[in-house]
Amino acid sequence: MRLRVDLHVHSAASEDGCSTIGDIIAAARMKGLDGVAITDHDVRLSAQSAKAFSSASFVVIPGVEVSTDAGHLLVILPRRDFRKGIPLMEAVDQSLSDGSAVAIPHPTDPLSHGVGEPASESASRHGAIALETMNASTLTRYNRSAARLALRLSLPQIGGSDAHLAKAVGDAWTDIDIDIEGGPGVPPPESIANAIIGGWVSPSGRRTSKATYLETVLRRTMRKGSERQCQSP
Ligand SMILES: [Zn+2]
Ligand SMILES: [Zn+2]
Repeated sequence: MRLRVDLHVHSAASEDGCSTIGDIIAAARMKGLDGVAITDHDVRLSAQSAKAFSSASFVVIPGVEVSTDAGHLLVILPRRDFRKGIPLMEAVDQSLSDGSAVAIPHPTDPLSHGVGEPASESASRHGAIALETMNASTLTRYNRSAARLALRLSLPQIGGSDAHLAKAVGDAWTDIDIDIEGGPGVPPPESIANAIIGGWVSPSGRRTSKATYLETVLRRTMRKGSERQCQSP
């Protein structure tokens, strides 16, 4: 079975993104996705909440985008909370020993807190990690340099929108191949995390439109100014 999952989405559940998880799911379904990972900055969605949002035909996967001392780190199916500023390798080691899937998002984009090439290479020596090489919110040249890095290090590649607005969800995604045994329906987050760890993934998608990108920036800036969640347009 091949699933199409956006592995990098921000939501209003933590006041990180502008859209509710309900709106994110609706947008993702419209674009033919089978699931999304909610990866807010330094706040993880509980497994219980993720399950409550999931159905037989759509899976919501708990995740977190950790602000490490070196830059951002995506943890899919995290089993613990990570403190802001945690050393990158400590977060990688803890996640791998917990059985979570680990990916370095926008690794070569310094403007988005990418950890950079040397740190990505060091992290890859700690275990099975993936690189995000199709991020819909970064510049094409950074996705290209990330893909070159993944090839050089022989690492699996994933894709995600890095959306902070529902309309950008699914602009990039990861195709995930899963061997399933058991009943029909979309497999649970555990099976998806295992497929990522196993490298049964490939990235796809395009950059988010400039109009949507500008709307995101505007709404997030307005929200920060007034200390409240983004408002619907
Ligand atoms: Zn990031
Ligand atoms: Zn992000």
